Amino acid sequence: MARHGMPLVISAPSGAGKTTLIRRLREEFPHFAYSVSCTTRAPRDGEVDGQDYHFLSRERFETLRGQGYFAEWAEVHGNLYGTPLGPLREMLRQGRDVLFDIDVQGARQLKASLAEATFVFVLPPDMKELERRLRLRGQDTEETIARRLHNACQELREAPWYDFLVVNDDLDAAYARLRAAYVAGTLRPVYHPDLVAALAQGNLL
Ligand code: 5GP
Repeated sequence: MARHGMPLVISAPSGAGKTTLIRRLREEFPHFAYSVSCTTRAPRDGEVDGQDYHFLSRERFETLRGQGYFAEWAEVHGNLYGTPLGPLREMLRQGRDVLFDIDVQGARQLKASLAEATFVFVLPPDMKELERRLRLRGQDTEETIARRLHNACQELREAPWYDFLVVNDDLDAAYARLRAAYVAGTLRPVYHPDLVAALAQGNLL
């Protein structure tokens, strides 16, 4: 019995460990399609264009945005980010589960336009630990770290409307929680329309 593809939206303040958790999820479940976002941010060391992000100039991003190219977009930490609509439609049409790593503003837009998505928020254990992790990764300037910490406080206010909250106090434990949220999400009736239709008629398939 076929089930529909599940859009799985994961948000977190930067430094919460989301990228590592998403990498593990994609390793364990290689059937996941990944929504590669566009961004005007410069690539970090090791990031590959077309794989981690599509890296665009602000001008190009704004042109595409004007053409309705994005399912959602947001300005995060001074850079523009957006989810291309075309590939997203195609991946869902194929019935694939699609992973989104997007910020709370974009998630809220998808909550309106893609209501059947499952939303997971990854939380740091506390703000001190978040600051420590941001410094440890050594990729950002002091100014960027300060801005990210300030933004984190705003982002955390949005967490309560998500379907699942995953506290990342320990990577293995957090991964087990994220995995459980994913598996639980796939059991929602909205992804099993054939079964739901049969049940409405008082039958199993
Ligand atoms: P980073 O620059 O650290 O890769 O990402 C910064 C923030 O932008 C993260 O919270 C990430 O989830 C978010 N982000 C990445 N891609 C998108 C996108 O396509 N749309 C939105 N709204 N946020 C995104």
